Amino acid sequence: MSCSYYAPQQLEELLAILAEKKEKAKVLAGGTDLVIALQEGNLDYDYIVALHKIPELKGISMSGDTIVIGAMTTHTEVERSPIINANALLLAQAAASVGSPQIRNAGTIGGNICNASPAADTIPALIALDASVKIVSKGSERKMPLEDLFLGMGKTKLSCDEVIKEISFKALPDGAGSIFIKLARRNALAISRISVAAIVASNEYVTDCRIAMGAVAPNPFRLRGAEQAWLGRTVTADNLDICVEAAFQEISATLGQRASAIYKKRAGKALIRRALSIASGQM
Ligand SMILES: Cc1cc2nc3c(=O)[nH]c(=O)nc-3n(C[C@H](O)[C@H](O)[C@H](O)COP(=O)(O)OP(=O)(O)OC[C@H]3O[C@@H](n4cnc5c(N)ncnc54)[C@H](O)[C@@H]3O)c2cc1C
Repeated sequence: MSCSYYAPQQLEELLAILAEKKEKAKVLAGGTDLVIALQEGNLDYDYIVALHKIPELKGISMSGDTIVIGAMTTHTEVERSPIINANALLLAQAAASVGSPQIRNAGTIGGNICNASPAADTIPALIALDASVKIVSKGSERKMPLEDLFLGMGKTKLSCDEVIKEISFKALPDGAGSIFIKLARRNALAISRISVAAIVASNEYVTDCRIAMGAVAPNPFRLRGAEQAWLGRTVTADNLDICVEAAFQEISATLGQRASAIYKKRAGKALIRRALSIASGQM
């Protein structure tokens, strides 16, 4: 395969290139997914358009209680960010669990999202955080909940002339517990077999409960039935059991009859119990 390479230095320049080249162009972030796909000959583009020189796509900031992460922010930067560690610990944990140090230094949060893998580690954490993405193209801008971006494994609603500029979400309130846990074939440098992101806030009663799962469906998703099962109830082991059982029913319905279902249902249930126990301070 031979193709031309662009490395625009401004967002406007990038969007003009994408508007002109349309489906013949592909954007390159850290390249940890895309370069492999190109090397395997699975993709055929005339133009590769690198994002790494565009300052508008980088950095982590907080204004009021809203946190904004540029799409080209690397997993290492997310993992080490004081803003993320103080206000969205589960996302720092998810970023820290991606691949190896080399992969985290190159791979970006925007690339992790746009690759749309069922096992992408930052997506469950971001979905639990109710994150939104800002999508830009030449002369236009739109924002949507991250959860609505996906159309199945490897597919998103992005048009060929659009890029994700940034991801935003509200900081977790004081006292909210959060955690990301991933189960893989080994502890390091391994793709998730199942992952869980959980947020729990409570006084005597559960005031906020958010659970997202990765690697059990074509895209990560929220377990809203299970969340509702614990909301408004006391933070007791009995009520945690009710929530975990509701989660089990939701996972079972999603997994259907596929070969890995027996393992994933049981392991997923155990992982959710552990995540919720830790996030709610019971463990
Ligand atoms: C050895 C190895 C281990 C890995 N381990 C893990 C792991 O444990 N967990 C995990 O989640 N992932 C893992 N990955 C996958 C990968 O590292 C991540 O998905 C990474 O975050 C992708 O980001 P990137 O910047 O490299 O994206 P790229 O490879 O550059 O791009 C990926 C896709 O996203 C598109 N894209 C990128 N940025 C944008 C944007 N801003 N707007 C629109 N489209 C965009 C590209 O066109 C491409 O289609 C691993 C990969 C390798 C090679």
